[in-house]
Amino acid sequence: MMDLQAIRSDFPILADPEYIYFDNAATSQRPRQVLEAVEQFYKTTNANPLRGLYEWSIGATEAYENAREKVAAFIGAKGPTEIVFTRNATESINLVAYSWGLANVQEGDEIVVSVMEHHSNILPWQMVCKKTGAKLIFLECDKFGKIPEQEYTDKIGPKTKLVAITMVSNVFGIQNPIADIAKLAHANGALLMVDGAQAAPHTKVDVKALGADFFAFSGHKMLAPFGIGGLYAREELLDKMPPFLTGGEMIEYVTRQDATYAELPHKFEAGTVNAAGAVGLAAAIDYLNEIGFDFIEEQEKKITRILYEGMKDQKYITLFGSENPDEHSGIVTFNIEGCHPHDVSSVLDSEKVCVRAGHHCAQPLLQHLGVNATARASVYFYNTEQEAERFLESLSHVRSWLGYAD
Ligand code: PMP
Repeated sequence: MMDLQAIRSDFPILADPEYIYFDNAATSQRPRQVLEAVEQFYKTTNANPLRGLYEWSIGATEAYENAREKVAAFIGAKGPTEIVFTRNATESINLVAYSWGLANVQEGDEIVVSVMEHHSNILPWQMVCKKTGAKLIFLECDKFGKIPEQEYTDKIGPKTKLVAITMVSNVFGIQNPIADIAKLAHANGALLMVDGAQAAPHTKVDVKALGADFFAFSGHKMLAPFGIGGLYAREELLDKMPPFLTGGEMIEYVTRQDATYAELPHKFEAGTVNAAGAVGLAAAIDYLNEIGFDFIEEQEKKITRILYEGMKDQKYITLFGSENPDEHSGIVTFNIEGCHPHDVSSVLDSEKVCVRAGHHCAQPLLQHLGVNATARASVYFYNTEQEAERFLESLSHVRSWLGYAD
């Protein structure tokens, strides 16, 4: 049995009990184990990795490559050659779009995304379609956030070149049936790009079992520093893909007019890499492995149930997504009648409660739902039942703060 107070004491920013941090889908907090690993790297091992032939640089290279192995094991890749370090999920998806997409997609092809995608899994495919003449097709979802099976079977077909879909929605928290979609995509000769930004922090990911060809994630949503993320891609695919960015360290040999490229995965990592970020990510993975996804999922469900049950019968509150709180991956998106979500967030902020308000970088989804903005509370395993209760109490003050009599 995990000791929640002991877990919380690992997070320096959570020391002030006045604050309730319910914006974990935007970015998580960091435990001291991660902060210390980064500090230790800079204090003892810092040098430009992959370049120097002296002890510190070799140490920095080892730390960086060990982190890659840790990431590979964490998400079930075959090995480190299938992991490219990037800044974040956005960069990972762009890498696939610019490299694989522009080289493989042609006029007449279709790229299938869902209406619940984050902009970072829509705009890169808009770009590929505009440049190649391919068509961007949207899978629609119902008001509970579920994509009906018929949508997949109707829209994924022989013209489909790629299905790009999120594993967990950042608005509904719903988990899409990735393994089934993979089978359908592959049966039609298409590849599957999974946006794992909201999945990797909350549930055990096994890219091979899922059947993902590409899987993107961000470190900052799973306890790691900003500026480090990753892309998993099957080695056969990476091998054939042209580089995305070019420059130092991604080469084998350069002449005046031409160049050959480095082995995988370095072909995709141009310029000085974020070794300290990778070290922090490795420490974050150690931390998550120690806590375990059984505890993480149970704790998130416990808190989400309190939030959902406490909000669902409130006269002025509209909740989005599944009616089963266990299908929310810790995300509760809502509106309060008569109150702009920005005002809701500001009133909550006055009581030191942090939530997100706005379009959540999912404007096509909000258009589909017929709203301009929503508020969103999102929890992580270090949030407590008391915080959930206090959040509900603060929420009950919002309408009166904004001048309503009831
Ligand atoms: N996809 C999803 C589902 C997300 O929630 C986010 C972050 N909000 C992203 C992609 C983009 O992540 P990042 O900004 O770290 O690249």
